[in-house]
Amino acid sequence: MRSHYCGALTTADIDETVTLCGWVDRRRDHGGVIFLDLRDRRGIVQVVFDPDTQEHFERADRVRSEYVLRVSGRVRARTPETVNPAMVTGEIEVLGKELEILNTAATPPFQLDEYTHVGEDVRLQYRYMDLRRHEMQDRLIMRSKITSAVRNFLDGEGFLDIETPILTRATPEGARDYLVPSRTHPGQFFALPQSPQLFKQLLMVSGFDRYYQIAKCFRDEDLRADRQPEFTQIDLEAAFLDEEEIMSITERMIREVFSSVLDLELPEFPHMPWAEAMERYGSDKPDLRIPLELVSVDDLMQQVEFKVFRGPADDPAGRVAALKVTGGATISRKEIDDYTDYVGIYGAKGLAWIKVNDIDAGVEGLQSPILKFMPDEVVAQMMARLGAANGDIIFFGADRERVVNEALGALRIKVAENLGLVEDRWAPLWVVDFPMFEEDPDGAWTPLHHPFTAPSCSVDELLANPGEALSRAYDMVLNGCELGGGRIRIHQPDMQRAVFGILGIDEEEATEKFGFLLDALQYGAPPHGGLAFGLDRLVMLMTGAHSIRDVIAFPKTQSAGCLMTDAPGDVGAAQLRELNLRLRQTAESGKTAESAEAAEDVESK
Ligand code: ASP
Repeated sequence: MRSHYCGALTTADIDETVTLCGWVDRRRDHGGVIFLDLRDRRGIVQVVFDPDTQEHFERADRVRSEYVLRVSGRVRARTPETVNPAMVTGEIEVLGKELEILNTAATPPFQLDEYTHVGEDVRLQYRYMDLRRHEMQDRLIMRSKITSAVRNFLDGEGFLDIETPILTRATPEGARDYLVPSRTHPGQFFALPQSPQLFKQLLMVSGFDRYYQIAKCFRDEDLRADRQPEFTQIDLEAAFLDEEEIMSITERMIREVFSSVLDLELPEFPHMPWAEAMERYGSDKPDLRIPLELVSVDDLMQQVEFKVFRGPADDPAGRVAALKVTGGATISRKEIDDYTDYVGIYGAKGLAWIKVNDIDAGVEGLQSPILKFMPDEVVAQMMARLGAANGDIIFFGADRERVVNEALGALRIKVAENLGLVEDRWAPLWVVDFPMFEEDPDGAWTPLHHPFTAPSCSVDELLANPGEALSRAYDMVLNGCELGGGRIRIHQPDMQRAVFGILGIDEEEATEKFGFLLDALQYGAPPHGGLAFGLDRLVMLMTGAHSIRDVIAFPKTQSAGCLMTDAPGDVGAAQLRELNLRLRQTAESGKTAESAEAAEDVESK
């Protein structure tokens, strides 16, 4: 139907006769000449119709925004005064000869270039219109380039693309499952995979050696922050590779994706132990573009009477840390109050601070409500340790270690963003040497990752001291975002039993939940491990989008619904009956009650 894409025409096409297909971006009538901006996925070109082509001119006069046209004409250079440097095709235009209206369009729910005037809900409801915007088109085009670069790289490294089931059993990735009722097994349910984890391990047992998949994962989480109930992973697994080899391959893959798609060479990926990341940045995904660090001052605070600091300093599970913000003395009392509220979200009970006005004047040169509680020499030692200088502000966190890390870790980012301290560069790293387990408040061990993660110690050492055990896990972090995480797996049944034992998963529960995996481990499982990248996050970072919703064609809302299709939706009584389901009556849902009655009806038959 067409000879060229609108947005791909250049001065090299001058004098060519071209046929274009696309949507009317804008129509202007300038004293008897009609200008149409015609848009397709490559961009926009201006088409001019003058009354010389009577019939087509009249048609051009009738078209409106978003009509679908087929236009033929001759490419010509614009006159110097009409060149539009803001447009990629701004040096040329097409002198229209023929115009065919392929389809008309109702008045759009919003003007594409005025999308910010409507809420995101309107954009999501008319997503197919929102996706016509060139910004959205560019993002999805880049997404496609990224997945194709990933596939090329992994194919080249001998990875096989193998699909794993969507209707399956629960995978333990720490979220709730989406369940699908089975019609043929009344009363039973499939779970949608939270990841292909168990299947990719089984593929290693089968000898496929190197597997990958661009896989949909489903997690029914309370949608905090920027999560989606269904999202995409670049999932891979390999046998006979250790963690260094897996990190090396996947690092090369990410480098290759950046260089082929963005023409950008990523810098070195330092390897940082988890404990160091927590100590210095209060986070297991530190943003290294921010030149601020947490510094422990527990030893100093053990010398003060001030209970707020002394208590956590003396407590082995506590921490007192300082965050020095260079040039932060300009932060006002009101802003400090706001930051105090902010750290409160992470459980911090307050936010102590010291402003440095004149470092040479000793305590006299400092300003803070807490100085009166601290001996001068402690303050002096602290200033020296922090390298404090005039114009700095120092914030403090004193609480349980986790609260201090989360609160100051988050504050570090917030303050840096507000003061414009985030450096404009790419900062990747690997976080390694994670603990195997976390202790929950009632003393039970929970896995930091999933329960198939191999420890870097022997079974005996693990059983003797689970709290000290490190795992063979590795996370790739980019600009403070966890891009991917992986681990070497347990491939020996005795180690797997030991880990289940520590986690309080008894034989019966283990068999019921993962019997097939445990069985498989008995039949010659090779040493193996893998990793999964969050594709949506990778695309978000590479496109500069602010939300993963902006890089997913049809995303869900924060409440896990789709405004366009209105999913999830009601199900009729007949379908429920077929599935052997009866809905519980809920007070607020008349509709549900209706289906419930219908189903009850069925039951009573
Ligand atoms: N399945 C893991 C996840 O989804 C990734 C991995 O361990 O390979 O986080």
